[in-house]
Amino acid sequence: MPQYVYRFSEGSKEQKDLLGGKGANLAEMTKIGLPVPPGFTITTEACRAYMRDGHVPPELRVELTMALREIEDAMGRRLGDFHDPLLVSVRSGAKFSMPGMMETVLNVGLNDASVKGLAEFSGDERFAWDSYRRLIQMFGKTVLGVDGDLFAHALDAKKAEAGAETDVDLGAEDLKDLVETFKGIVREQCGREFPQHPREQLDMAVEAVFDSWNTERARLYRRRERIPNDLGTAVNIVTMVFGNLGETSGTGVAFTRDPSTGHSGVYGDYLPNAQGEDVVAGIRNTLPLAELERLDATSYRELLQAMRRLETHYRDLCDIEFTIERGKLWLLQTRVGKRTAAAAFRVATQLVDEHLITMDEAIGRCTGAQLNQLLFPQFDAAAERTLLTKAMAASPGAAVGEIVLDNAQALARTAAGADVILVRRETNPDDLQGMIVAAGVLTARGGKTSHAAVVARGMGKCAVVGAEELDVDRAGEQVRINGTVLRPGDVIALDGSTGEVFRGAVPVSDSPVMRYIAEGLDAGLAAAQDEATRELVHAVDRILTHADEVRRMAVRANADTAEDAHRARERGAQGIGLCRTEHQFLGERRTYVERVVLAEDDAERDAALADLLPLQRQDFTELLSAMDGLPTTIRLIDPPLHEFLPDLTDLSVRVALAEARGEVDERDVALLAAVRRMHEANPMLGLRGVRLGLKVPGLFALQIRAVAEAMVARRRDGGDPRPEIMVPLVGSVRELQIVREEAEEILAEVGRDAGMTLDVPIGCMVELPRAALTAHRIAEEADFFSFGTNDLTQTTWGFSRDDVEGAFFADYLENGVLTISPFETLDADGVGALVVAGVTGGRATKPEMHMGVCGEHGGDPESIHFFHGAGLDYVSCSPFRVPIARLEAGRAAVMAGEDSTA
Ligand code: PEP
Ligand code: MG
Repeated sequence: MPQYVYRFSEGSKEQKDLLGGKGANLAEMTKIGLPVPPGFTITTEACRAYMRDGHVPPELRVELTMALREIEDAMGRRLGDFHDPLLVSVRSGAKFSMPGMMETVLNVGLNDASVKGLAEFSGDERFAWDSYRRLIQMFGKTVLGVDGDLFAHALDAKKAEAGAETDVDLGAEDLKDLVETFKGIVREQCGREFPQHPREQLDMAVEAVFDSWNTERARLYRRRERIPNDLGTAVNIVTMVFGNLGETSGTGVAFTRDPSTGHSGVYGDYLPNAQGEDVVAGIRNTLPLAELERLDATSYRELLQAMRRLETHYRDLCDIEFTIERGKLWLLQTRVGKRTAAAAFRVATQLVDEHLITMDEAIGRCTGAQLNQLLFPQFDAAAERTLLTKAMAASPGAAVGEIVLDNAQALARTAAGADVILVRRETNPDDLQGMIVAAGVLTARGGKTSHAAVVARGMGKCAVVGAEELDVDRAGEQVRINGTVLRPGDVIALDGSTGEVFRGAVPVSDSPVMRYIAEGLDAGLAAAQDEATRELVHAVDRILTHADEVRRMAVRANADTAEDAHRARERGAQGIGLCRTEHQFLGERRTYVERVVLAEDDAERDAALADLLPLQRQDFTELLSAMDGLPTTIRLIDPPLHEFLPDLTDLSVRVALAEARGEVDERDVALLAAVRRMHEANPMLGLRGVRLGLKVPGLFALQIRAVAEAMVARRRDGGDPRPEIMVPLVGSVRELQIVREEAEEILAEVGRDAGMTLDVPIGCMVELPRAALTAHRIAEEADFFSFGTNDLTQTTWGFSRDDVEGAFFADYLENGVLTISPFETLDADGVGALVVAGVTGGRATKPEMHMGVCGEHGGDPESIHFFHGAGLDYVSCSPFRVPIARLEAGRAAVMAGEDSTA
């Protein structure tokens, strides 16, 4: 029988699957002797059983009773006792952090009798009644489903009646009244009394937390973060400690290093005389943590010790939630802290320098996605700008967009193609949709740990928070900043690294990290405007250099032109894995293809091809020159030829109109006939790739000859050209054999004429299931394989890559058939199995055979880890993604064997 309840003394940080992140870390802190209030965790397994069966497992009730009694005995207090009552919090905590998405209920155990006990124990009647009204409010909303506004309005009414400016100004009698009013609201809305029995409260709260796993906003968040829906949440039952017992109490959040810059020091927010939720909600503005030293030096010192202890134990930046109850420090939560991309790189190298982690571990902690964020442009330092205000830099980046004030405006304006900045007084989980589509987020309230800041950092989205001079007038549809009035639609710019807010659009310039990648360390350092950024450039250099040293897979680029090739080389590409030559037949060159198609006999076609030869030779000479000394895979033409001809409808109209005018253009008429003749119902499955090469005599031969002649030209110029010829869409070994024979003849002939030996590897794409399944045969004729996972995904799933994403992927993501588009991240189970079959088959025939991938997946982090595991020699991706692929290939090498999604 599974164990559904774990005491904090039983678990450990490795048990996140079972205890959730919060539960596992509470257990770990308890284990290493830090001051954690006594408590226990109900496992995610219990939640899954609840979701499966529709009720809590009976064993859970029994285990819960036993665990609760143990705490009661240890504390010498009883849940809901009439005198000194034990109160508990009931908190959600899933394996992956989902900030603010699920529910929490505090002060469970209070009722009409124990509220008096609490008043007695605390010696503070006001506090006791305030706690009780918070319970009814939170319980009413979360557990009983009462509209939260009803409580909020009643609270406002009471404040007005009592002439109180804030909640804190309400006295004990006011709060007693309010409790009666709140109980009345519950009675009216639910047709039942607020439950008085403490155990009933506890059981109901646990179920409500289980249920909160499946709210719409939680599902939306998980979809976005790609967290599986079936994990369930754990529930932590923790003895309540109070930060709102007067001025010697308080609550806060601390980071062992600055989560935006990575600098070590004292970072965090503190709110005296408050409960934890007040900090995260950003309702009251907080003090910087360092102020605590002045307020309570003992607790401050103890906190710093605990922070150092945690950072040493976890060997990473940790964030901590703590409460001080009448001078006694309690740690309520810790975890390896979320951080900005820049901080990830800095912290990782700082920890290496402090001898806390190895370089291998350091690259495990910096992801390609984070590196990607650092490559984005920043505001141009020299540009003119009008500063509106400066607030807290909560999440870096530069964002320019129109002001929107809510989700509806955000969605409408982005649908119309605008970039938007979501401007709110403060955000809460209901603002998630707007935050997802916005380019940046600006709030008037809250600190670095407010909802807006935490969520934006998680999304890699620029955010500025706590702009006190900002007044958001929702009803009046305007915002005022220092006397400037702005309305939805007005453009502002946010600098998430400095906290500055500007009026109008500000031009942006390259990031120093990008400069480093393109032009080297000195250029990157020179572009950095401050010491922190210089430190960042150094950190990225060290991480990327190490990744380059440890990775097994090479990184190439998909580049069709010399310009792309330069860009790719700048970013560290070690070759071209795919040059799509069809791109060389577009524009003005279409007419040559038209001539090939319209040729009435061999002579006419040969003449058209002969005219193309010098152009193609020039293309390849430039490309090989840009990639001098590096392998350059040139793929023979792939798409159906009719893609180069005019559109059937356009042409039909043109011919019809001409005929109506009595003018007949013979060429158009012939073209129209050809377009009609060549029309295919499923062109992607039709006359394309190698099939085209076998069907249209001379077409592939022209390209092969152009490659050979370009190679000769480059060699004569003293270059070191290394072309490879790649045949697309091969399904049968015989197709490749025919092309190969022809290619070898041409290479031999051109080489003979030039007095050189032209060694050009000839290989093929593996992009059809049949090719993967007969790879052992195809390998007989191939010098290399390159997996074309775009077509392989299309043909394995039977998904038209041009149609399905728009047609029904949204539904498939919604109903869980897919967790992500298989065109974005390789479908490891299906398409991946074919890749593995192709590798295995090919190497059964040629054990040393060189293999890579050139589909879009070659630049996708998760897929790169898969390709490493499958034994590929290289990935090839867009030039922009080359640095990301270098890092991820290094990470894959050091993380192989570990969970590659960690
Ligand atoms: C592929 O199919 O994965 C591929 C790289 O070729 P293309 O995208 O040009 O079809
Ligand atoms: Mg393809």
